[in-house]
Amino acid sequence: MVATEPQAEKKERWTFSWKHLYDEVVTTGLCTGCAGCVVVCPHDVLSYDDQNGVYKPWQNEAEYGGPADCSHGDKACTTCTRACPRFRTWETEIDNFMFGREREADEHSGIYKDVLLARAADPELHENGQDGGLVSAILVYALEHDMIDAALVSYLEGDGSTWKAIPGIARTREEVIASAGSRYTYSANTMAYMDLDKEEQRIALVGMSCQSSSPPAMKARKAGKAARRISLNIGLLCSKTFDDAIFEELFEAKYGLKKSEMRKMNIKGVFQIWMKNGDYHEVPLKECHAWTREGCKMCPDFAAEHADISTGGIGAFNDWTLTVVRTDTGRELMQRMIDDGWIETRPGDDDPGAIALMHKLAAKSRKRWPEFAVDAPRRLTKD
Ligand SMILES: Cc1cc2nc3c(=O)[nH]c(=O)nc-3n(C[C@H](O)[C@H](O)[C@H](O)COP(=O)(O)OP(=O)(O)OC[C@H]3O[C@@H](n4cnc5c(N)ncnc54)[C@H](O)[C@@H]3O)c2cc1C
Ligand code: SF4
Ligand code: SF4
Repeated sequence: MVATEPQAEKKERWTFSWKHLYDEVVTTGLCTGCAGCVVVCPHDVLSYDDQNGVYKPWQNEAEYGGPADCSHGDKACTTCTRACPRFRTWETEIDNFMFGREREADEHSGIYKDVLLARAADPELHENGQDGGLVSAILVYALEHDMIDAALVSYLEGDGSTWKAIPGIARTREEVIASAGSRYTYSANTMAYMDLDKEEQRIALVGMSCQSSSPPAMKARKAGKAARRISLNIGLLCSKTFDDAIFEELFEAKYGLKKSEMRKMNIKGVFQIWMKNGDYHEVPLKECHAWTREGCKMCPDFAAEHADISTGGIGAFNDWTLTVVRTDTGRELMQRMIDDGWIETRPGDDDPGAIALMHKLAAKSRKRWPEFAVDAPRRLTKD
């Protein structure tokens, strides 16, 4: 008998193109509209529809094959599927890439190093921030200490009176402050990548949970230069965003609240709305559910599980940001900001209820991941 060398385990070739993405993600309800596929497409044949609440990618080669087909896919271009944080075994692949292991079933909020409460020491950043102004402080610190060249964030369109959230780039303290606070409709901040200058190579992304899984998907599956440029990934905890139509169809139609007269909004158990004339209103969340954006209905990620730093506003302390540090990059940055007096922190244990609530909401979101897709994002312990 002839002895044979054991065969090296063969890695399956990545052959999946737009056709697969379209059939398995875009048209099945899994697509969040994160725009990862659009920004990495090297042939510019993917566009993004953010009108009338659509928030989906589409294939713009009018002469070729129809919406499900892309001529470059025939030549084995696979870039879009590599960037998609909902394609096939995305969660396990990214967990392995970022943390060197799959998560345990009880890690509903993903794998992390530290949980703490944080807020900006600078009163202007704190004041303008939604919660503790941590995200704004991080961006200003990283810009002013030459750690990043630009950040992909969200602004309001025009003078803000339409409340249409749009992606944009922040390069200065003033721009970071202009983009601070939360809007509860969708803004695919990733799309602002298309407007970066060539020499801007160190980029921070601020994004909803779904968007913050896109850079590590790109890195894990080698989707090209966008993967290398996004060097800091800040996630926002999120259970849903609302259709833009909620302003007219609920807030105005039922409560007479015109969006042009709104000043600020927040969600703390109810939808809170502050008007420019000083009035304050609360709208029960159960009335808002009918306007949940399509792309959120199957989303399993509440806790921005693949960001360097994930941030949220739940808990007992309104003016602090609940902060989940997941990576060495995130931990080193937080430590530098603490040492330099840019942020104040307190232990997460000061508010155990906030952490318990995060895990509970994360478990709830995981139950939304559908049976027809791979099972990992549905994995849960029974509580
Ligand atoms: C749609 C949405 C839903 C959220 N849901 C929850 C939740 O259920 N539970 C929870 O604990 N926290 C939630 N958050 C996070 C929370 O509202 C704060 O964003 C977070 O605590 C950071 O606060 P901060 O003061 O540190 O951030 P800030 O310093 O105010 O910075 C906020 C950053 O978020 C960006 N941003 C604002 N709106 C959007 C948007 N629509 N899309 C993308 N980026 C945006 C801004 O451009 C800015 O860079 C949600 C945020 C958003 C935008
Ligand atoms: S989830 Fe994101 S990357 Fe995937 S198809 Fe939708 S927009 Fe593209
Ligand atoms: S629930 Fe939040 S994180 Fe999930 S798809 Fe919707 S916006 Fe993205």
